[in-house]
Amino acid sequence: MLRLRKPAVGRSYCLPIQMASSNVMNMQDKKWEFVIVGSGAGGATLARELSNKGRKVLVVEKGRYEKEAGTTWGQFHNFELARITAIFAKWKEQVIIYTANGAGGTTVISHGNGIRCLEEELTTCGITLEGEFAEAEREMRISPIAEGLLSDGSKRILWASRELGYKMEPMPKFIDPSKCRKCGACAGGCVNGAKWTALDYLREATQSGAEIIYNTAVEQVIVENGAAKGVKGIGPHGRIEIQSEVVILAAGGLRTPVILQRSGIKEAGSGLFVDLVVDTYGVTKGLNQLHEPATALVDLEFHKSKGFILSPSVSRRRVTNFTKFGVKGLTLPAHRLIGIMTKIADETVGHVYADGTVSKPVTERDWAKLREGSSIAKKILIKAGADSHSIVFSKPQGGHPGGTAAIGRVVDKDLQTEVNNLFVCDASVFPAAPGLPPILTIVALAKRLAKTLAA
Ligand SMILES: Cc1cc2nc3c(=O)[nH]c(=O)nc-3n(C[C@H](O)[C@H](O)[C@H](O)COP(=O)(O)OP(=O)(O)OC[C@H]3O[C@@H](n4cnc5c(N)ncnc54)[C@H](O)[C@@H]3O)c2cc1C
Repeated sequence: MLRLRKPAVGRSYCLPIQMASSNVMNMQDKKWEFVIVGSGAGGATLARELSNKGRKVLVVEKGRYEKEAGTTWGQFHNFELARITAIFAKWKEQVIIYTANGAGGTTVISHGNGIRCLEEELTTCGITLEGEFAEAEREMRISPIAEGLLSDGSKRILWASRELGYKMEPMPKFIDPSKCRKCGACAGGCVNGAKWTALDYLREATQSGAEIIYNTAVEQVIVENGAAKGVKGIGPHGRIEIQSEVVILAAGGLRTPVILQRSGIKEAGSGLFVDLVVDTYGVTKGLNQLHEPATALVDLEFHKSKGFILSPSVSRRRVTNFTKFGVKGLTLPAHRLIGIMTKIADETVGHVYADGTVSKPVTERDWAKLREGSSIAKKILIKAGADSHSIVFSKPQGGHPGGTAAIGRVVDKDLQTEVNNLFVCDASVFPAAPGLPPILTIVALAKRLAKTLAA
């Protein structure tokens, strides 16, 4: 977790979520029908669906409720560059994995891209989500980005790709075009409230009676006679035990497997993917992608055949470019920079260990996909006007960790583990790397699970 000093003056942007009582004694006296661990894509959706059906729900969230969503401070407070601080000590592969802690989880820092993924793989596992996808797409108001929101840089990339015969298209987004101010800071939390996040579902959940406690990390599930009975964790007032009939872990692909292993499910943790990404940037005479929603376009034509997608994207912040490109990143001129990200469905060979450390090797096959995508990106950028000598490639990174409690290995098709009444509902359950934005599919899976649990 990055720790920065809080600036003396900062813009405060309060989202109107009612914070539930965090009286720990009160929480421990009660018995809940459902305890949901984590308030991101999976957790918030379940909380909303179950509480809308009148069920008694408690969400336990490790991070805090961020009042400054949308500000640089808010972003850094919640951003977790997984293990970046420990790269040299613990993590030989040096792949940066981005996730976020706090109300709404990683959806708060997402780019607002909404694409169905893993439909075929899930069908093979016996899971069809057609109804749930359609419902989520309606609620999140997903539609291709309006051309009026594109920056000059992306318009030029669109032109160049089409000239070269590639199929770049507007990205399907859960961003309300009437509220988007093209600030380009989607990953900072969307100060204009244009982007759907899990906070929208959390808000509805609390309106329907769900309670939430923040700053409380679940460490272990209480298991008695082969069935889940609640969770143990640590909060601001010390150790805590919460009783519940059903426990659902939705702490994300890096944290859920840790809780599972500590609860006796040793198979959890292997099979990690992160949807590896390499950014390709080039310097132009005056084009940039600063004023638009991030990753505004997408080329999906190679997804099935070669396992990668292309999407124009540039980081504006020097600190982010430093993490991606090293010292060279500090010198990149954001106002003259255009870029394209290559995202792959990587091999599921990573591992999350019970102590929370991570191993994420980049295999030869991964490198081959990254290289092929990046070389197309380079061609497009040069055609769009980037100086061919200025082209740089980032280190591999990832922002979609999952697969660590996969369906068929750790959970069954109802997302239940070998422990009765212990379920998992986040990216951990994905049976393969999507290589595509996962939020919509996690939301759809959570809607399906809520129906089963409330039946
Ligand atoms: C920069 C960036 C941009 C992205 N853009 C997109 C996009 O445009 N579209 C898309 O589909 N995907 C996007 N993603 C990926 C997407 O946001 C995540 O894959 C998705 O949110 C994962 O959902 P989840 O439910 O698995 O976990 P999360 O949403 O990460 O939620 C997990 C929650 O659990 C909490 N938690 C963790 N440990 C504990 C614990 N021990 N006890 C209690 N709570 C705990 C965390 O604080 C967090 O709130 C992006 C990711 C990044 C990093």
